Amino acid sequence: MSKAYIGLGSNVGNSKATLEAAVELFAEFGTVSARSSWYKTAPVGYEDQPWFVNGVVELKTDCTPREFITRLQGIEHRFGKKTPFRDGPRTIDLDILLYDDQVINEPGLIVPHPRMHERAFVLVPLAEIAPDVQHPVLDKTLAQLRAHLTDPHPVELLEE
Ligand code: AMP
Repeated sequence: MSKAYIGLGSNVGNSKATLEAAVELFAEFGTVSARSSWYKTAPVGYEDQPWFVNGVVELKTDCTPREFITRLQGIEHRFGKKTPFRDGPRTIDLDILLYDDQVINEPGLIVPHPRMHERAFVLVPLAEIAPDVQHPVLDKTLAQLRAHLTDPHPVELLEE
């Protein structure tokens, strides 16, 4: 059984409802063992678009990483994911952040996610649920990485 961390994001439609529904579908290939709060976050890269809703889920699964990303892409597809351009608006985005302590560098699958350690919208929810987990490449805990973030983009708790 492996333990994976999935980053979720959306800024088109009812983002929170979409992401909650996606989390329900994770039961098809794993068991959710922890989940972060939802956050509203300022867009990174292309800034002329609505703020995102972001969160992180911990999942126990018997999938291989390759099966796992195929499953996540299947869910993105079911929610009609469209990305008109890089860093642009999206109904749903599901990223594998960590997969046990595996380091994977293959076409279409890079783990740990290459930009996770410099993005507040990933590290704030990830460190909320897994502060003591070690980043397998940077050899720092997620709490340490979060404490050293220099990303200025605001990340705020989403009010219910
Ligand atoms: P995006 O639409 O910006 O999320 O980019 C998705 C692309 O990133 C797909 O082609 C994936 O195969 C690729 N990719 C590489 N590593 C990962 C990862 N760890 N999690 C999610 N997608 C990944």
